[in-house]
Amino acid sequence: MEFRDSPTDASFRAEVREFIAREMPDDLRAADDAVLGVGIGEDERERDWLRKLATRGWVAPAWPKEYGGAGMTVMQQFIFNEEMARARAPRPNFLAIGLAGPTIIVHGSEEQKREHLPAILSGETFWCQGFSEPGAGSDLASLQTRAVQDGDDFIINGQKIWTSGAHRSQRMMLLARTDTDAPKHKGISYFLLNMQSPGVTVRPLTNLADTPSFNEVFFDNVRVPKKDLLGELNRGWYVATTTLDFERSGIINGVGLQTMVRELVDYVRERPRPHAHEALRHELADRMIEAEVAIVLSYRVATMQAKGLIPNQEASVTKLYGSELAQRIGRTAIRAAGLYGALTEGSAHAPLGGRLDAWYRIAVGSTIAGGTSEIQRGVIAQRGLGLPRE
Ligand SMILES: Cc1cc2nc3c(=O)[nH]c(=O)nc-3n(C[C@H](O)[C@H](O)[C@H](O)COP(=O)(O)OP(=O)(O)OC[C@H]3O[C@@H](n4cnc5c(N)ncnc54)[C@H](O)[C@@H]3O)c2cc1C
Repeated sequence: MEFRDSPTDASFRAEVREFIAREMPDDLRAADDAVLGVGIGEDERERDWLRKLATRGWVAPAWPKEYGGAGMTVMQQFIFNEEMARARAPRPNFLAIGLAGPTIIVHGSEEQKREHLPAILSGETFWCQGFSEPGAGSDLASLQTRAVQDGDDFIINGQKIWTSGAHRSQRMMLLARTDTDAPKHKGISYFLLNMQSPGVTVRPLTNLADTPSFNEVFFDNVRVPKKDLLGELNRGWYVATTTLDFERSGIINGVGLQTMVRELVDYVRERPRPHAHEALRHELADRMIEAEVAIVLSYRVATMQAKGLIPNQEASVTKLYGSELAQRIGRTAIRAAGLYGALTEGSAHAPLGGRLDAWYRIAVGSTIAGGTSEIQRGVIAQRGLGLPRE
């Protein structure tokens, strides 16, 4: 891989940087999206920012122009994400732009692309991912939510859990069982569910960082029209693996992690001794080097995508490394701040407005979301290293 930007990419990077500096209000820095952030919500100022990005076609720069993207290269999309993370600019809804849209581009009918992609780009529809259930997380194919065909509809009954952003989504990527007799991977279908359908109930769950970020979702005889089936009936598992590959490739942003370490270094620099003692200096240096490694790993995923390849174990390596690093950064942050580290937003003495505490708490879930570290290690062992299952 060539680490330097090509002349075209360098001028694109400069253009993005200049645009962010000019157009983004200084006080509109995102909360820490580098770890598990789902992106812009209902905040009107963030929505304004989204509209500004949309006028440039930069909500999803690499999507084809015919669907409202800017038709840019994968590397330019990557550069765009890097610059957004460096500036801590609020980013478009990751579940819609990073997961739902790309999956629809790969597996959707022309009609589905025309219905859903423009609405994602304009920020009109937010998406959530209805995969996990109380009895199906790592072993996702065991899911029990049922979809039974009835005329031109399917009728859905069951429950999802840990559904990030469901409370503010208009659509869900929903996996449901459509054939109970088939082997478990072969009886699942993938639906593009309208969350406003009668019979859908969303109950918020509060996470460790006291944020209502995920939910339980219940389906009670919910009707989904056949046109909202994505891909073939009973072949939903293979559509879902596309979504998971996109998720693992993009869930952690190396530059976002590096930005966090830089902010931490600035914070420590400004504090009087003895906080900047030798051990902490070494620890901060380690985190900075590790963030650099996370960036290089994400380059590998991006260059594969640029060549039209679908990263699989490579995405697992990036996700595993980045999420465990996010936790190490959280621990270093709390150690650096000492007792102040436990102060939360609202306290006059909370370092970085309470964000250190938030980093620590939010990062806990990062090694679970998108597949646990054990599952990523299994993927790397079997598909990457060719090791046997047992
Ligand atoms: C912050 C957050 C956001 C999330 N958002 C979403 C979302 O938007 N949509 C969604 O569908 N889901 C979401 N999830 C759910 C997430 O995908 C699951 O929690 C995850 O896949 C693990 O499943 P589980 O919780 O059922 O744990 P289990 O699968 O029960 O795992 C329990 C433990 O057993 C280990 N284990 C299980 N199987 C194996 C194995 N084969 N080999 C080795 N170890 C194993 C696991 O690593 C884990 O330590 C989210 C989770 C979190 C924490």
